[in-house]
Amino acid sequence: MLQKVPEPSRITFFVEADFVRRDQLAFKTGDGVESGQKIQPVLGNLAYAEASLGGTVTSVFSHTGNFGKKYTGITITVDKGKTAAGSRFQEAGRDITIETAGNFLRCIPGGLPDGLFAFADKIHTIVIQGADEDVLGVTRAYTVKHEMAALKQGIDVLRKISGARQIVLTIPGAMASEGGTAGVEIKTLKPEYPAANPRLVARDCLGITVPAGSACEEAGICFISAEAVASLGKARDTGMVPSRKMITVIKKSGEKVMASAVIGTPVGDVLTACSEKVNENDRIVFGGPMTGSAVFSESHPVEADTDIVIVQDAGQIPGVADRSCINCGDCVRICPARVPVNMLIRYLGAGDYATAADQYDLLSCIECGLCAFACPANIPVFQYIKLGKYEFARHNAAEAEHA
Ligand code: SF4
Ligand code: SF4
Repeated sequence: MLQKVPEPSRITFFVEADFVRRDQLAFKTGDGVESGQKIQPVLGNLAYAEASLGGTVTSVFSHTGNFGKKYTGITITVDKGKTAAGSRFQEAGRDITIETAGNFLRCIPGGLPDGLFAFADKIHTIVIQGADEDVLGVTRAYTVKHEMAALKQGIDVLRKISGARQIVLTIPGAMASEGGTAGVEIKTLKPEYPAANPRLVARDCLGITVPAGSACEEAGICFISAEAVASLGKARDTGMVPSRKMITVIKKSGEKVMASAVIGTPVGDVLTACSEKVNENDRIVFGGPMTGSAVFSESHPVEADTDIVIVQDAGQIPGVADRSCINCGDCVRICPARVPVNMLIRYLGAGDYATAADQYDLLSCIECGLCAFACPANIPVFQYIKLGKYEFARHNAAEAEHA
């Protein structure tokens, strides 16, 4: 059953744009915002969110996300009177082009990948992800099952705006009959994790090995969630940017609920609608159990790509420890990318990201999280790897800028 979360009294957006001084901001407390309005909070920075509801800005603030990524947050107190206005997307017409998609639809439910725009000339294959990447999630599969008409419309839009020669829909093996009506090439995935990982799909389903350290788009393949494709279809059909995001909510009891919430809704509202109470020291995780990240408050908003929300009971949170590696080799045996994780972790732990990348295959990691799951010493190996990749890229970007 689908749990429709009521429209919230306030919404928040995090836009990946940093500001130093407040005079760099395009919005201030008290400004009015209409539903569908494009929010570019930092002057001169093109990153944006799209207001899912209208209202009054009550806060504009700096937010630091995972691995030190900087965002500008904007909170809007919802005013139902401001929710009926159209958007500039509507004015642009229903003939969606790559430019209108880039200008107005990047933050649709499911989220369009940056690579679709950054590598537009290179992309020859689009893979629509009808199977969820992390375990326990059913958000993408839900779209294939219940939103086939919108998905087909979205496929039409994608065909036109991308110019891709091949469009493929990946689905769990058990859903072959549902996926078969989409009118595109179908690839069914093995039931075991991490079969839906983009790099494994590229290798196992398309016969293309994406080089370590390169984005899939650089190899000409763009992965887009089925929900985002259905959202494209709805945008063309209605002339409005869709704003409700589907989320797989996994409660402390293990019960799974499919919820639909307006983007920007505080996760606490979603959990209340799903009759889930969060107690002190419980943990809320955005993303699946293998690759998700904890959020620090029930105010944290549902974002365009929030597919799974898990609540973990304080007494059952899996432990992590800053222990030394006991060199058991379990992580190496389980790694689908054959990364020498036991060696890698030594250099990551010491902050030597260059050696980790140059000699121990840091960039070959496909980010499945299996190593952390397998580690008997409870070392947060996956988190070390994500941090290592982020810091390595940041360092290289800084060097290139100053060269
Ligand atoms: S997350 Fe761990 S197990 Fe998965 S590919 Fe990376 S190193 Fe290997
Ligand atoms: S599984 Fe953990 S303890 Fe074992 S080798 Fe890998 S990092 Fe070390």
